Amino acid sequence: MQASSYNKFSQHLRQTFGQRVQKLPLNAGFSCPNRDGVLSSLGCIYCGACGAASPLLDNLPTLKKQFERARQALTKKYGNCKFIAYFQAFTNTYAPVEELKKLYDEALSWDRDNIVGLAIGTRPDCVSDEVLDLLADYAKRYYFWLELGLQSSHDRTLELINRGHAVAQFANAVKRAKQRNLRICTHIILGLPGETTEEMLATASFLNHQQVDAVKLHGLYVLKDTPLAAMYGRGGYIPLTFAEYISLACDFLERLSPDIIIQRLTSDPPLNTLIAPQWMLDKFKILNGIEQELARRNSKQGEASLLGS
Ligand code: SF4
Repeated sequence: MQASSYNKFSQHLRQTFGQRVQKLPLNAGFSCPNRDGVLSSLGCIYCGACGAASPLLDNLPTLKKQFERARQALTKKYGNCKFIAYFQAFTNTYAPVEELKKLYDEALSWDRDNIVGLAIGTRPDCVSDEVLDLLADYAKRYYFWLELGLQSSHDRTLELINRGHAVAQFANAVKRAKQRNLRICTHIILGLPGETTEEMLATASFLNHQQVDAVKLHGLYVLKDTPLAAMYGRGGYIPLTFAEYISLACDFLERLSPDIIIQRLTSDPPLNTLIAPQWMLDKFKILNGIEQELARRNSKQGEASLLGS
């Protein structure tokens, strides 16, 4: 655990590589079984047309063009740095393994000096043993992260948000990935419809008992043309306020084991389709708010988990 108030990914990367390393987002044009009709054609109730793709990509047609655009933008912002090729949008293991291998190999070949790692975002029900074996092969040769969406440790919530998988499938995927020594990052959302504060914080405790290495946390936001937008429109969903998110994120961090790396506490809602809440666009203010609140509490990540609560 670092001296700072939470276990920051940027610090972990600096310790590992001795310099700044940035994730470089890619959209390989995958679909998702929760959108293409295999499980559902609706998707998770909050899933927008871009499937969590980074605004950096801006609908660029080829992976190579996306890479060049993102590299340019990241270098402009951060100066010289190394990159992790991050297959981010939709479900990035949802294809035959030969096809996956071709895409991952292509991304890793663009700049062998500066692309130092690979990160693959997917669903826990889309990682067969065959896929995990493929990923394990990359993990032997590259710095590697498997990112699994979970969002909540409560099956009732997963049903309500139409995730199309259960918590047990997540636990099973983690177990099989860990048998292959893969680093695992889990995505969690605060402010999901119907969840109480206690339920959200129970998800932190649940993660402490899974073999996850990192967490990405953000608040739920409402995008145009989603089932959540319809729910919001008829008053059936009220987004978290800025103050509520700051307080909940700090509560969550306090309950989370200090060994778990925090990859993210904010999100990148697409500006043109974001309905609410607008405060989510100000990442700097959110991160500052969390730091200040933890300082005000004289607290840090794991403070409550260490006390056994
Ligand atoms: S799993 Fe991801 S891509 Fe699939 S519907 Fe849910 S949010 Fe969208």
